[in-house]
Amino acid sequence: MRVLRTRTELHAALAAPPRPVGLVPTMGWLHDGHRALMRRARAENATVVVTIFVNPRQFNVAADHARYPRAESRDLAICVEEGVDIAWAPPVEEVYPSGFDTTVSVGAVAQPLEGAARPGHFEGVATVVAVLFDLVGAERAYFGQKDAQQVLVIRQMARDLALPSAVIACPTVREPDGLALSSRNVHLSPSERAAAPVLRRALLAALASWAAGARSAEALRGVMRGTLAKEPLATIEYVSCADAATLEELHVVAGPALLSLAVRFGTTRLIDNEPLPG
Ligand code: AMP
Repeated sequence: MRVLRTRTELHAALAAPPRPVGLVPTMGWLHDGHRALMRRARAENATVVVTIFVNPRQFNVAADHARYPRAESRDLAICVEEGVDIAWAPPVEEVYPSGFDTTVSVGAVAQPLEGAARPGHFEGVATVVAVLFDLVGAERAYFGQKDAQQVLVIRQMARDLALPSAVIACPTVREPDGLALSSRNVHLSPSERAAAPVLRRALLAALASWAAGARSAEALRGVMRGTLAKEPLATIEYVSCADAATLEELHVVAGPALLSLAVRFGTTRLIDNEPLPG
């Protein structure tokens, strides 16, 4: 595996790569969710590029960026294990050279939920992913369904800007107790970690109501709130039952929908979601 730092090195390494090329963008502190993306990319492509970059522009709270966990040598060892060809781990000034002054701003689908809770977050995500898509020129790029709105935002951007990488969403990887793997889980205290699977329980309770015939979106949101309310360490930021394509909040579930939530445990913010098939 080649570990590269600069745009120039990456450009040279990708001058004539075996094709197709698969891209897996990450912020490091790699876990089994990232490994699943790498495995899918490895299975479907001749060249696999993983990027490891804690993107300062997608953190709306500076302290969150400062305390984001980092472990590069461990991350690189994981990339080797997963058969990655190129790991690009640039310093900030290689992604945003001096004078960089462009922001990619996606419209309606980036506004609710994470967009509302974290102003500027999706501008940061879309901007860095546009740079990565252009630098790598992959046929396919792999993202986790755990960040469902991110997938929709990037798809919208890729479509509108005619970026040639296909955006592929991969299923959420979970701990045995249902907690979605996340680099942020490391910040949970033991009691918060024990409480955190309530996100999954809330989503599954609403899914069960839907499967039993409930179609009122507010009733489904109520089921999630009710489950979360039983966990004293959990503070709800939002619960949502929205159209799966537009993320507009629904009154009645009559087609594909997305249940999603954001919950705080102390200073740690966790998100999760569950699709409702149409
Ligand atoms: P991050 O390093 O957190 O920015 O995540 C990099 C990619 O891995 C994103 O596309 C995430 O959606 C994806 N990812 C993060 N956690 C999981 C998970 N538990 N299961 C599947 N994909 C994930």
